[in-house]
Amino acid sequence: MGETISRRLWFQGDWDAEMEERAFPNPFPDYEAAAAVPAEEPPCARPALTPEELGLPFHSDGKIIHNFTRRIQSKIKDLLQQMEEGLKTADPHDCSAYTGWTGIALLYLQLYRVTCDQNYLLRSLDYVKRTLRNLNGRRVTFLCGDAGPLAVGAVVYHKLKSDGESQECITKLLQLQRTIVCRDSDLPDELLFGRAGYLYALLYVNTEMGPGAVCESAIKEVVDAIIDSGKTLSKEERKAERCPLLYQWHRKQYVGAAHGMAGIYYMLMQPAAKVDQETLTEMVKPSIDYMRHKRFRSGNYPSSLSNETDRLVHWCHGAPGVIHTLMQAYKVFKEEKYLRDAVECSDVIWQRGLLRKGYGICHGTAGNGYSFLSLYRLTQDKKYLYRACKAWPAPFTSSPTSWPPRQHGFQHLNSALQRGIQRCKKTPKGPDGTTGRQVAWRLTQKPPCILRKGGRREQSPADPRPASLLCSPRWCQRDVSVSSAA
Ligand SMILES: [Zn+2]
Repeated sequence: MGETISRRLWFQGDWDAEMEERAFPNPFPDYEAAAAVPAEEPPCARPALTPEELGLPFHSDGKIIHNFTRRIQSKIKDLLQQMEEGLKTADPHDCSAYTGWTGIALLYLQLYRVTCDQNYLLRSLDYVKRTLRNLNGRRVTFLCGDAGPLAVGAVVYHKLKSDGESQECITKLLQLQRTIVCRDSDLPDELLFGRAGYLYALLYVNTEMGPGAVCESAIKEVVDAIIDSGKTLSKEERKAERCPLLYQWHRKQYVGAAHGMAGIYYMLMQPAAKVDQETLTEMVKPSIDYMRHKRFRSGNYPSSLSNETDRLVHWCHGAPGVIHTLMQAYKVFKEEKYLRDAVECSDVIWQRGLLRKGYGICHGTAGNGYSFLSLYRLTQDKKYLYRACKAWPAPFTSSPTSWPPRQHGFQHLNSALQRGIQRCKKTPKGPDGTTGRQVAWRLTQKPPCILRKGGRREQSPADPRPASLLCSPRWCQRDVSVSSAA
């Protein structure tokens, strides 16, 4: 028995170490503790404490305090400069919204929306033009395929009142439809590479340009294809009763937002997708309930139905992605259980979601911060606004006493780099004939942004690549092409 206990302790220690590597331990008190007036203060002894005195980033009406806004704005300005500098050496061919130029166009479009500064819209146009010259026909989704540049292009031209160009983008976007609705193709249904990701592009255009910019029949065809595909797999897997719409990607039944059911159900529940009430109640709802029953006791979700490790707390895999599906289910079906589960997701993200992996949306702090903002928008509970305010800018702006030293981040980068190198060595030849071993060698030699004087490794502020990308062999290939272009 002694041995069992020590083994369990060892596993626990190991697990803690892994968690430590994935996410910063959250140093902040939660909202209730932060907002509580110290007990020794009699309530009338002095005027009410200001948000600054309480350490809160907003006033009692939820309006963000001036200082906090100013800090964020100045950080955005700095980061934009660093990003533009870094983009000079970025992969000229990556036009995706996920990692490439369409993402930059979207960023400027969002800055235009927030500031109404026309210059941002024109910057967005520059990047849109660049992406439209580089469509490659390889993928079809908003995030990773041609539908992203085309949809963003249509919106940017529309805002500039260039209706001819905008319409041309929509026409090209709709030309992709044939591949999407073809039932015999091996196109998946998920958000990153599949049908739901194409549907996202259609709905995005209609949200930004008004209903009717993309006709309803086009949307219906895609929705029908997604539903048919889910029904077919559910029957094949004999799950028609429990999970009437079942999906897989690379033969694995993923749960999360990027590759899994959560992302697909989320799209099907969008009012603009116009899925009929019967399908929502008879098909989508029980499937969501099936997914809910797979959640871990922590409130987090597995990456796939067959995975029982409670490890990843990312938008792509885990609670930060599933929470949006649960919130949407609460809006559509008006049942408290969905909101309760969403709140549980939020708690696990607050505890384990200040990721070391990077700042990005897919598996970084920003994506996890979004979940708090969305829950705040839904519930108006300031607890979630507080969490968003704390989590989001934490990696840039936290005080030295409340945050592990930055050096720690570089150590993580080092170990990520080492893992990337090891995995490269095992990878067979790349498309340009380079072997994994060569890639690994070049990775240790080339990028000036990683090796610093004295052998210390860090990511230069001008380097736009998230550190997490260094972990995967596919990205090591890209890494080399970025460095070679430099
Ligand atoms: Zn991810």
